[in-house]
Amino acid sequence: MGLIKSWVETANSANAQFPLNNLPYGVFLDADGAGSPCVAIGDMIVDLGVLEDEGVLETGSNEPVFDVPFLNEFMDLGSDAWADVRSRLMDMLKEGGDDVLSGNDNLREAAMVMQADVKMAMPFVVSEFTDFYAGRNHATNVGTMFRGKENALPPNWLHIPIGYNGRASTVVVSGTEFPRPNGQLKGPNDALPSFGPSKRLDIELEMGAIVGTGNEMGRPVSVAEADSMIFGYVILNDWSARDIQAWEYQPLGPFQAKVFASTISPWIVTKAALEPFRTNTPKREFPLLPYLEEPGPMLYDIDLEVALAPQGKSETVISRTNYNQMYYSSAQQLAHHASGGCEMSTGDLLGSGTISGPEKDQCGALLEITWAGAEPIELDTGETRTFLEDNDTVTMRGAAKGNGYTIGFGDCTGTILPPVKFP
Ligand code: CA
Repeated sequence: MGLIKSWVETANSANAQFPLNNLPYGVFLDADGAGSPCVAIGDMIVDLGVLEDEGVLETGSNEPVFDVPFLNEFMDLGSDAWADVRSRLMDMLKEGGDDVLSGNDNLREAAMVMQADVKMAMPFVVSEFTDFYAGRNHATNVGTMFRGKENALPPNWLHIPIGYNGRASTVVVSGTEFPRPNGQLKGPNDALPSFGPSKRLDIELEMGAIVGTGNEMGRPVSVAEADSMIFGYVILNDWSARDIQAWEYQPLGPFQAKVFASTISPWIVTKAALEPFRTNTPKREFPLLPYLEEPGPMLYDIDLEVALAPQGKSETVISRTNYNQMYYSSAQQLAHHASGGCEMSTGDLLGSGTISGPEKDQCGALLEITWAGAEPIELDTGETRTFLEDNDTVTMRGAAKGNGYTIGFGDCTGTILPPVKFP
């Protein structure tokens, strides 16, 4: 399938992030700061609250679902409603389709705004955030640095999609600034720990899967069911303070090292838009247990890149990789999450784990790119970096490349402010 042409001309170029094939969901803030669910098309936004209110967009629900500043109520309607609304919106926005919007100046004026003129908000209320560790190159690199080459992969790694429960409260939308975290630090030669700003602040390039419909407590789901429960994907930066992490992580895993911020891209790219880009997880070293077996390809071919910009300076792309590098898919992670009886809910966010390719400039964390700080990288500005400096801005981008079109996610950007001073 090639580009589906829209009457919104800016949606029709091969490099546009938001062609009609994409139609990702977000929440934008109007001039008064009120949030409304929307879709992106070309350089425009379509306000779904207005379309619903005007009676031209039905969701199958008796109650409005786009009159709130989050997408949870729409996601909760389930996959039939997602498909119907997508198909209706496509008909309304495609060249030669239903002219209810293209032929009505007043409605178009009320429902459509330029993306450049608005700010994006969190697209959904994050119920809970679970982060996984499913990239084999990343797990091998980190394991080699922490435990040596022989013990790089933990013995369970090739059998279990390892994860931990993170914090939903500090998942923030792209563009949010936050201070460098403080925490307990203890270097290898320190007798006792101290408290202060992290000196080894890092990024983690991940994809986030958003659970659209949940399961009942005590009722596990198959990988196929798990796949059908996923509404869509965002790019996720799971910021990590490596020095805090190194001291605190045993035996229960990361805690303060990861809770200060996790940034997501503003647009939820639906599973429907990504369908043409499905690809298989790699060959298994050990066969997976039956409850983790995949009925078909569950990863996606999505090019990813990470760029770093010092304050007031131009950015340097420091890594390029692809989501197809993962060992476990989000559907497997979701099935594993529910397998013991855990209830998963609308708005749950699952981080894929850091995505790293086999080469240094394909890694999704500075820890790997600079080999724990031993090999600084040089930016195009001439500056060097091991870990992040105050006022650095990191931007992650993703693109699935189709035949004559691109599926983009919007930038996933965050800036590090100086640390908060303790009295
Ligand atoms: Ca992570």
